[in-house]
Amino acid sequence: MKQLLNKWLKNSQLFNFCLKMDTLKQFIFKPNCLLCAESTAQNSKNTHPSTHAVCGECLAELPWHPKTSCPQCGLASSGAGLNAIVCGSCLNSPPDFDATKAVFLYAYPIDAMMLRYKYGSMLNLGDTFGEFLAEKINIEDCLRNIDLIVPMPMHPQRLQERGFNQALEIAKILTKNCKEKLDYKSTERQTLTPPQASLPLKERVKNIKGAFKVNTALKEKRIAIIDDVMTTGASLNELAKTLKKAGASHVECWVVARTLPHQ
Ligand SMILES: [Zn+2]
Ligand SMILES: [Zn+2]
Repeated sequence: MKQLLNKWLKNSQLFNFCLKMDTLKQFIFKPNCLLCAESTAQNSKNTHPSTHAVCGECLAELPWHPKTSCPQCGLASSGAGLNAIVCGSCLNSPPDFDATKAVFLYAYPIDAMMLRYKYGSMLNLGDTFGEFLAEKINIEDCLRNIDLIVPMPMHPQRLQERGFNQALEIAKILTKNCKEKLDYKSTERQTLTPPQASLPLKERVKNIKGAFKVNTALKEKRIAIIDDVMTTGASLNELAKTLKKAGASHVECWVVARTLPHQ
């Protein structure tokens, strides 16, 4: 694994470099795996389609979110085999969202990639994450039952600091064939709260309360919220609650990575 990270870090430096050199990127780097630099085009071990620029060998090593997880919160469930069942915690105290779909567990090397995407200079990882999400959840099928795709809104000040909303970039990939479903304007983040990651779990719920505002009626709308990482789910739950108060009938969370409780 360490070797994989070293290769990836080395490759990501090349990747950063080639972002500035589009021509070179087109001809030399594009067919190479984002993680190990092996060719994704002619690797005989590559058994997966390489829409997300990761080779088959690396794909097999990624921390995939288990299909047996609770369909509502995405955490471990006591489901037998492939039949995932709603966990005890969701049965006892149901969250405001109705379902959670995640691609990965928030573990190595996804955590390192996510940090590079959000705080580094690898903006293209947004496309990669969006493509992974689209493929894992079978986006065409999922979109048939969803009216609106709402990326987790960012407070204007944070947006100015970072320069982009990481959830919106992922949502754009998911809606590339149905742009009319992308809705990043009717929901706002109205309070600037400390980053959730800096707070203990219980404080996160208090911190995020009342943070969102919906500017339009969402009567009977079926909505999927897009976010990069779901940790306690406090932000997603608060947004789901706000969307339902505005009339939404069904809210799902579609996230790139799900953190397990002990992490
Ligand atoms: Zn690879
Ligand atoms: Zn659950």
